[in-house]
This record gives sequence, structure tokens and C-alpha cells, in this order.
Amino acid sequence: MITHIKCGKTHMGIVRTETKTDYRVLADKIQVGNIQYKGNWKTEKVIKEGKIKLKCLSCETIIESGEELDGCGEFVIDKNKGVIFITDILDRFTE
Ligand SMILES: [Zn+2]
Repeated sequence: MITHIKCGKTHMGIVRTETKTDYRVLADKIQVGNIQYKGNWKTEKVIKEGKIKLKCLSCETIIESGEELDGCGEFVIDKNKGVIFITDILDRFTE
């Protein structure tokens, strides 16, 4: 079993980051004084930044490389199919 070296646990997932821009409209006629908002916040746009990272959900740490995992040489994240973990067995032979 592959575990996160830092915490010894194996509860992992992926995270993605996006930037969301919201807007809120002011009342139609703007004049001197306090102009109230009309309605609630609405979404203008969401930019998915495309950075998907592996995260240990036990200790809330982003895992940048396979070196942070016990029993894993490296990993490849496929956002649809899952994460492929590659053995570190070759590293063990050459150490
Ligand atoms: Zn952890």
C-alpha cells in the first residue's frame, strides 16, 4: 500500500483551482448619495486554471512528487480516469 510519508495515511484525492468573478448591479439611476444594489451576486465568469494536484485529505497537504509517498516512485494524474501510481522498485534496486 502507498502511504503519505508525512502523516502515514492513505486518504488522497485531487484538487483543482478556479478563479470566479461575480458581479452585483447597482440600481438603475445613479445619483449623488448611497445607491443600493439590485439583486444578489451573479457569476460573470469562471476560469478553470487547469492545475490539478494530488492532495492528502488526511493532513491537507498538496503532494508535489512521488518522493513524498512511501512505496511510490512517481504518479501521473488523469483528470478523468484516475491517478496512476508507479512503483519505486527501480529506485530501490539502484540505491
Ligand atoms: Zn498526509
